[in-house]
Amino acid sequence: MSSVLTADQFLDTSGRAQVREAIGAAERRTSGELRVHLEDHIEEDVLDHAAYVFEELGMHRTRDRNGVLVYVAVADRQVAVLGDSGINEQVPDGFWTDVVGLLKLHFAAGRHAEGLVEAVHLIGEKLSSFFPLREDDTDELSNEVSIGRR
Ligand code: CA
Ligand code: CA
Repeated sequence: MSSVLTADQFLDTSGRAQVREAIGAAERRTSGELRVHLEDHIEEDVLDHAAYVFEELGMHRTRDRNGVLVYVAVADRQVAVLGDSGINEQVPDGFWTDVVGLLKLHFAAGRHAEGLVEAVHLIGEKLSSFFPLREDDTDELSNEVSIGRR
């Protein structure tokens, strides 16, 4: 049944609110910016596509190049976690893979919101060690879960 889920069904209103709040909480500890983007289905490679979405959402325009995108193509159960250049210089390669693995485990068990909240928390912790919150912090990228139409 979950194989036919659309992005709208994947995360209901309450789930989206939980994820938005988790992003807000994470961003109170770091200058990094997190976004979660859902789409129904993709044809191309998930990492290539996530890189395209990253640009589309203007995520490369943060001051410290420290945006992180969590991308999910729900019907394909494809997940990518992508950090901007400022982060990739700092974060060990395996970290993103670990977060993707964790998300897939949660999603396979139907825990969509819980998985995203946990992933956001983990990414936020990692970001806060490299990019602590600055006094002049602004919310550079929306905390709302975005849903792509394809
Ligand atoms: Ca910020
Ligand atoms: Ca934000």
